Amino acid sequence: MISVEQAEEKILSYVNILEEEESSILDCLGQVLAEDVYSGITIPPLDNTAMDGYAVRSEDIRGAGQKSSRLLQVIDTVPAGFISERKLTSGTAIRIMTGAPIPEGADCVVPFEYTDEAQRKESGASDEIGILCEAEAGWNIRRAGEDIAEGSLVLRKGMALRPSEVGVLASLGCSSVKVIRRSVIAILATGDELVEVGQPLSRGKIYNSNTYSVAALVQRYGGIPKLLGIAMDSEDSLVEKLRHGLDADMLITIGGVSAGDYDIVKDVLTKEGEIAFWTVRMKPGKPLAFGRIKGSNKAGAAGYIPHLGLPGNPVSAMITFEIFAQAAIRKMMGKKNLAKPVVNAVTEDSIINRDGRRVFARVVVEKRDGQYFARLTGPQGSGILTSMSSANGLVIVSEDKARVEVGDTVQVMMLDWSEEG
Ligand code: AMP
Ligand code: MG
Repeated sequence: MISVEQAEEKILSYVNILEEEESSILDCLGQVLAEDVYSGITIPPLDNTAMDGYAVRSEDIRGAGQKSSRLLQVIDTVPAGFISERKLTSGTAIRIMTGAPIPEGADCVVPFEYTDEAQRKESGASDEIGILCEAEAGWNIRRAGEDIAEGSLVLRKGMALRPSEVGVLASLGCSSVKVIRRSVIAILATGDELVEVGQPLSRGKIYNSNTYSVAALVQRYGGIPKLLGIAMDSEDSLVEKLRHGLDADMLITIGGVSAGDYDIVKDVLTKEGEIAFWTVRMKPGKPLAFGRIKGSNKAGAAGYIPHLGLPGNPVSAMITFEIFAQAAIRKMMGKKNLAKPVVNAVTEDSIINRDGRRVFARVVVEKRDGQYFARLTGPQGSGILTSMSSANGLVIVSEDKARVEVGDTVQVMMLDWSEEG
């Protein structure tokens, strides 16, 4: 039996970074940039006003105040998107809206609230304005290029794109960008007992939930799930179904990896490819098969597709995915930080580790008085999928620790990094 680290290392050694693709900026969220992005333009393109107000010359309003207004002649109004044709000379002002370019001759903008505009509107007069404060040159002016200079490096190759980068790309006028493509993950459930969702359930059968929790995880980590349906517990059925997934970047089967009579994934993996390992010193998730199957993908070593055989128990499938498949998918997509975030928390329950494996216990993590606390979600059976639904983290109990006591500080791998709940 190998350790969690050895298993992860092995899996990651079988997957490579995928090719680049041109992606619409609407579709690239979370993808890794495959090119340096330089700006072809200056942003903002011209000096412009940060406030609605009056563009003036600062020297014209020196000494102005609430009780000593400076009267200026209003010679134009400029909304955002237009440039005033008028040149501002001594004694004049131009009414200007946020974002509009600063008129020639002006050196600051006085916001409406420091003028007597409101009183004037009441009395109907509008060709003059009283300025009620002094200003330094440059006040409320956003300088051309203060965000981005033409020709500068704006986004670096290798960074994962977040909403702010999508906005920056749009501000440069880019409608698409070069990124590492999303990994396509084929998903095959196994088991004679499984019924597809939406179908009637007969006695002794259960719905196939794993395909859907795993597909949702694939999507969460940026991949594209390719559903291969349900294989019966026979080698022929498994081989026939998995053939449809051999053009994917990775094949995930679920179930059929433990020591039961109908657990055939290992046999198929051995016949159709190579097995790398099939048990890991962890709980849940001990029966975890990994290897490669002869396929047609470009991502793995020539002619082979990496194959991860997750255990069938719904909790085990999700936890082993979070630890191994998550890292593989993200590596393929060019991500560098492959580990889930880990925090220290005080445990509010004791946890027993009976057989020297690494335990991942489902917990609810809460922050109180600046400190994280973790309590078990309840029964830890690996068939109890609703316990995953109430958990937001997994307490990690190391192989050599037989017991964690109430009040101990433990490490918690966060599944969902949200404190809002
Ligand atoms: P296995 O690993 O195939 O022995 O399955 C272990 C347990 O997980 C059994 O109780 C199965 O019925 C259950 N199981 C396996 N696959 C699925 C699935 N796709 N959806 C829900 N439960 C499953
Ligand atoms: Mg099974």
